[in-house]
Amino acid sequence: MTRSAAGAWHVPDDDLRLYAAGRCGPPLLWSVESHLVACPGCRDRLTAAAAAAEPALLDDGWAGLDAALDAPVPGPLERLVRRAGVPEPTARLLAATPALRLSWLGAVALTLALTAVFAHAAAPLVFLAAAPLLPLLSVAVSFGPGIDPTFELGLVAPISALRLLLVRVVAVVAVNAVLCALASLTLPDLGLAAAGWFLPSLALTVLTLLVATRLGMAAAAAAVGVGWAVLVALTLSAPFTAAGQVASAVAAAVACTLFSRRARAFDPSRLFPRSAFTRRLR
Ligand SMILES: [Zn+2]
Repeated sequence: MTRSAAGAWHVPDDDLRLYAAGRCGPPLLWSVESHLVACPGCRDRLTAAAAAAEPALLDDGWAGLDAALDAPVPGPLERLVRRAGVPEPTARLLAATPALRLSWLGAVALTLALTAVFAHAAAPLVFLAAAPLLPLLSVAVSFGPGIDPTFELGLVAPISALRLLLVRVVAVVAVNAVLCALASLTLPDLGLAAAGWFLPSLALTVLTLLVATRLGMAAAAAAVGVGWAVLVALTLSAPFTAAGQVASAVAAAVACTLFSRRARAFDPSRLFPRSAFTRRLR
C-alpha cells in the first residue's frame, strides 16, 4: 500500500498493474482486493491500468456483462422441457404457447373440476361431452397472430411453421389429456367408460386442424365444436359406446391422413384469413 497526499492508503501503481494482469498472488492479492472494494479512486486507476495493459480486455468484459444481462431467463416450463431433451429454440417457442400458460391451464383444470362435480351429481354424459372440447379450445389459442407473442418470430425462425404448430398441438393435447384423465378419476362409477372422451378428443383436434387449412383456425374450432355438441345432443351416449369409439378412431385416422396430404402445401396465413398479419402478407 502507498500513502496519498491526503494521508489515506492506496494501492501502488506497480501492484495495480500486477493485479490487472492477473499476476498478483496472496497475501498482496487480499489486501489489494479489500482496498479496491472500498476505494473508488483506486478502482478508476485499475480501469486505466487494465485498459493500458490490454485494451481489448475492458471491451470484452463489458460485452460479456451486456450479454449476461440481456440473456433471456428461461421460465419453469422452458427449463422442464429443456431437461426433457428438447432443443433450446423449440423449447422457447413451446414455452411461449398461450395454452400452456398456468392461467390457461388453471382455467382448464377449474372447468374440468366443475364439470366432473356436475357429472358426478347429475349426468356423467356432461363430462364425457365437455372434456373433448377443452383440448380443442386450447389448440385454437395455441398458434396465431394476436394471441401468441412469438407467432411472427416463429414464422421467421429456422423452424417450419407446420412443425411449430404440430409441436404445440401435441404438447397442448398431451397436457390437456393428463388433466382430463385426472378429472375422470373422480368418476369411478363409470369404470373404463370414464376414458370415453379420449378418442373423440383426438378426432376433434385433428379435424379442427384439417378444417382450419380451409376456413381458418377460429372458424374451424367453432364449427367442429358446434358439430360435436349437435352430435352429442342428437345421439346422446352413442359416441361413448364401443361402436362410437371405433368411429372416433377412424375419423381421427382419416383426418390425420387428409391433413398430412395438405401439410405439404401448408401455409400458416391460411389459418388466420382475417388477421392483420395475413392482410400485411398479401
Ligand atoms: Zn485507494
